Amino acid sequence: MYIGHYALGFAAKKVAPKASLGTLFLATQFIDLLFPLLLLLGWEQMLIEPGNTAVTPLNFTHYPISHGLLSVLIWGLLFGGIYWVIKKDLKTALWLGLLVVGHWILDLFTHRPDLPLLPGLDTKVGLGLWNSLIGTLLVEGGLFVVGVYLYATSTKAKNKTGRWALWGLVAFLIMTYLGNLFGPPPPAVKPIVYIGFLQWLLVAWAYWIDHNREES
Ligand SMILES: [Zn+2]
Repeated sequence: MYIGHYALGFAAKKVAPKASLGTLFLATQFIDLLFPLLLLLGWEQMLIEPGNTAVTPLNFTHYPISHGLLSVLIWGLLFGGIYWVIKKDLKTALWLGLLVVGHWILDLFTHRPDLPLLPGLDTKVGLGLWNSLIGTLLVEGGLFVVGVYLYATSTKAKNKTGRWALWGLVAFLIMTYLGNLFGPPPPAVKPIVYIGFLQWLLVAWAYWIDHNREES
């Protein structure tokens, strides 16, 4: 899942209006932002196998630190906890912690059974929506439309930047999503690591958008 995770970040503005869209993206994409770093360190592994699922050629062979259920619960606690310490806003902190875990729940629906539960346990889970291209497009596209609608209606632009930066990001996410789905598989793992790091730019873009919008 790609734009589905961002959909969750957009939608969360409705229930956690105090958090910037950048912080919401940081929470919802937290474990996917961690993953490229862990790949680079060699602590987690991934293979490229075209046909692995109908949607993605990526085979996530070993990623217990970023995507193990127990680790994700800990990441959620830490994320929400740090936000609470800094901002003293318990309600928003709770939503942010839930968003970190929400990423894993969305992955649970989409991935093949490759998500670890506990360290030392061989059982891996995943309900495999990625085995269906149409199913993925419908579910993820639907989530994205709802998420963007909720963000666009619970905030309003303070200026032109607030409008165009938002719709620019929406267009960018849709284009890169379609490129991922219908483009050629990546040549090697390394380029994916670097593209993964570029996701930080989307977080920065979201801070910029939110800075130029206000609660409606
Ligand atoms: Zn993920």
